[in-house]
Amino acid sequence: PVITRFAPSPTGYLHIGGARTALFNWAFSRHTGGKMLLRIEDTDRERSTDAAIEAIYDGLRWLGLDWDGDPILQFGRAARHAEVAHELLERGMAYKCYCSPEELNQMREEARAAGKPPRYNGYWRDRDPSEAPVGVAPVIRIKAPLSGEIVVQDHVQGKVVFKAENLDDFIILRSDGTPTYMLAVVVDDHDMGVTHIIRGDDHLTNAARQIVIYNGMGWEVPDMAHIPLIHGPDGAKLSKRHGALGVEAYRQMGYLPEAMRNYLARLGWSHGDDEIFTTDQMVDWFSLDSLNKGAARFDFVKLENINGHYIREAEPTRLYEVMLATAEEVARNADVVGLSQNKDTVLAALPELQPRAKTVLELIDLAQFIYAQRPLPIDASAAGQLTTDSRDMIGAFAEVLRGLNDWSVEAIDGAARAFAEARGLKLGKVAQPLRAALTGRTVSPGIFEVMVLIGKQETLDRLADQVA
Ligand code: GLU
Repeated sequence: PVITRFAPSPTGYLHIGGARTALFNWAFSRHTGGKMLLRIEDTDRERSTDAAIEAIYDGLRWLGLDWDGDPILQFGRAARHAEVAHELLERGMAYKCYCSPEELNQMREEARAAGKPPRYNGYWRDRDPSEAPVGVAPVIRIKAPLSGEIVVQDHVQGKVVFKAENLDDFIILRSDGTPTYMLAVVVDDHDMGVTHIIRGDDHLTNAARQIVIYNGMGWEVPDMAHIPLIHGPDGAKLSKRHGALGVEAYRQMGYLPEAMRNYLARLGWSHGDDEIFTTDQMVDWFSLDSLNKGAARFDFVKLENINGHYIREAEPTRLYEVMLATAEEVARNADVVGLSQNKDTVLAALPELQPRAKTVLELIDLAQFIYAQRPLPIDASAAGQLTTDSRDMIGAFAEVLRGLNDWSVEAIDGAARAFAEARGLKLGKVAQPLRAALTGRTVSPGIFEVMVLIGKQETLDRLADQVA
């Protein structure tokens, strides 16, 4: 059975690249009927924080990516990692190195002077341990092959060849007995039965080093898929401005998790030209061989369009809960109060609002006319509609409305058409100023629907505010 893992380091938020890696691991394990493990790589004790661990759980849950079994905290397995380092020592595949920081520095200087990349020169590799200096705690280094090649067979990158001469005898156990990242990853992936490693291609050279450890232990190397990193729209490294944010930032900007899953899947994976697909379809179609080799470019406009699609599709009752939760999370207190106190009206308005919004925040903005306090704040473009002439017109039409007994969209619509015709105006010339007066904006649901939603008295009061 397939076992994948998502192995984030809890040193910051769950960023968008990590979320995509998690999604691919998840989709592949679900596609194959396998498992996805969650391993928190918290061996960097200085930089790992509990808050970051919580952010990872929270982000994955929000995205709807579940994992199998309890999360594994890597630091808790340090004794096992050390045990493997000592086993490699016994097998003659690793050795103790007693070099002092000064000696290592000198080694680097010499390499640099000779025009070579600075790296460890194997000083203790074949030296007799009896030469060891007294009172110095050694590190343990792996014996990397001295000649030949290390080949990474990768589902995305194909066959990637590393020359042995470019790999040095890297450290697997520090002098204080703690494992390095390189060792911990291999031991954990092996012990946990991981069959497929799917991660960013920034780990490709690590893969070559890790293979040295697998070989040293005589362990089978898992399948690998190193996915190209996400770049900005300009092709450069993804910057904050272009989307290098934690997943919670996307939630706060008003993206729906299903839209994120759909969009993230498109960043590095494709199924023909399909832009929109359900998560079930993605799971059905997913394969490692359909991962793209070229770098993906993050594009907010595409994400917004996909999000707009899912907002249109969503059930109003659920959307209402998301709006409320979002308003709470970003501390828009007036919206929290307004949404809570006007639940039924908001629910009734939602089918009108959904086609007009690309994010949940836009949806909240569009709903504000329902609970806005008089006198309404009027935005700049709406203010342009409220000329002296149109205020007079609003006053006259308010009188028509006052006399209307049937407060339905049809009746108001009929009254407005008759009013416009009598004055030789196009309907839009009546509707736009009304919209400005009743919502404070130039974008809203149909204006007669707005009137029905807020009711007759509130309509007359808001119009009166603009006439006075
Ligand atoms: N902990 C590593 C990271 O967050 C990932 C290690 C791996 O996937 O092998 O970059």
